[in-house]
Amino acid sequence: AHEGILRRQSARESAARTYARALPIVPVRARGLTIEGADGRRYLDCLSGAGTLALGHNHPVVLEAIRKVLDSGAPLHVLDLATPVKDAFITELFRTLPPGLADHARVQFCGPAGTDAVEAAFKLVRAATGRNGILAFAGAYHGMTSGALEASGGAFDVRVARLPYPQDYRCPFGVGGPHGAELAARWTQSVLDDPKSGVPLPAGMILEPVQGEGGVLPAPDEWMRRMRRITADRSVPLIADEVQTGVGRTGAFWAVEHSGITPDVMVLSKAIGGSLPLAVVVYRDDLDVWEPGAHAGTFRGNQLAMAAGTATMAYVRENDLTARAATLGARMLQQLRSLAQEFSVIGDVRGRGLMIGVEMVDGEMEGEGETAEGKEPAGLLGTIGLGGPRGASAAVVPGTIPSPRPASPELAAAVQRECLRRGLIVELGGRHASVIRLLPPLTITDEQTTAVLDRLADAVAAVAR
Ligand code: PMP
Repeated sequence: AHEGILRRQSARESAARTYARALPIVPVRARGLTIEGADGRRYLDCLSGAGTLALGHNHPVVLEAIRKVLDSGAPLHVLDLATPVKDAFITELFRTLPPGLADHARVQFCGPAGTDAVEAAFKLVRAATGRNGILAFAGAYHGMTSGALEASGGAFDVRVARLPYPQDYRCPFGVGGPHGAELAARWTQSVLDDPKSGVPLPAGMILEPVQGEGGVLPAPDEWMRRMRRITADRSVPLIADEVQTGVGRTGAFWAVEHSGITPDVMVLSKAIGGSLPLAVVVYRDDLDVWEPGAHAGTFRGNQLAMAAGTATMAYVRENDLTARAATLGARMLQQLRSLAQEFSVIGDVRGRGLMIGVEMVDGEMEGEGETAEGKEPAGLLGTIGLGGPRGASAAVVPGTIPSPRPASPELAAAVQRECLRRGLIVELGGRHASVIRLLPPLTITDEQTTAVLDRLADAVAAVAR
């Protein structure tokens, strides 16, 4: 079955596959962290549906919640009518929201994907502000749609300006740390304030508290607070995309809580559906000025997903899995950092909670100490597509941190293959697909964590030889 299924699907399925779908596994059974393939092999799954499976595969409370709806005879499809299942979902969701938002929030159910909720958020802030553009950050990932609305005669025409996102290892300003984050914040501020930047006051700013697909880049808390102040001072709604970071993954129920900020809009998907498709946008109620029907969609009422999501969020909350994610994540980071001491092909280890990235780079080169010319960090500013503010770049102190070695997508792919041989599924990400991403379920045990780290260490050792 294993070979036949793989052969037929690779003959018939689009080559534009993403995520780990290109891996030669045919999952037929799964529980918790473990997936079993049609060939009888077992794998530890640290992809978790790109962070969707907060409780791992087929958690009993999630299965029970789904079965309960099925057995109750409740309709499975009711568009967006009010139902008891939806009522329970909204109640649980609002219980978890950051305090500043919980008392004044509204929720809009969206098409079942995160992308759709991002589109909804853009429409919302455009309607609320009467402005057009969206500020986003280099390396961001918010989804895949474009043009569906325009093709429907909606003339969406969203203008997006991309700004530098703070990061230590490949800091766009070549300085890293708080100083690099400060320069990134100043850049954003002057793009907003300098009429010559060519960027008119936008309808909103969208950011990921930790960039996921972008290579697991946690934003510093102070930078998050700066973004909150900069947007609040100019009445620009701040949209937090917590599609991947939400429901405890980063060691807080919502990742914005680390910095204590309250966004105006939150885009939520993945784990809130407890492994089934569900996406919502939650926002301050005074932004609720969009027309009825402004954001429609047939599949906004998935009762099974709502039940699975309610059970997942409640389980995370009641069992304090956020604290568990923080503790385990810290342990993983620490051990991976010791591994990086041992192997020069690991350029950087970073993350927050159980959202962890290991960046693979070209190993130690001749004349170590020289910097990798050209590629990074100076290269990034060129890709941002804005002239950049006066002052911000002048303040750059080049060479404060050593230039990182070139990213190595080849080594990352090799580690991914070696992991698979050892029964470990990991995902790749980052601008150069050079970052090994670990997104284990929050229910991962201490022993399983050890097994994951051991297998990854063996895989790195195998490619570093
Ligand atoms: N935003 C973020 C932060 C994401 O990580 C993703 C998906 N990886 C999306 C939006 C898009 O979600 P979907 O794939 O469900 O459309």
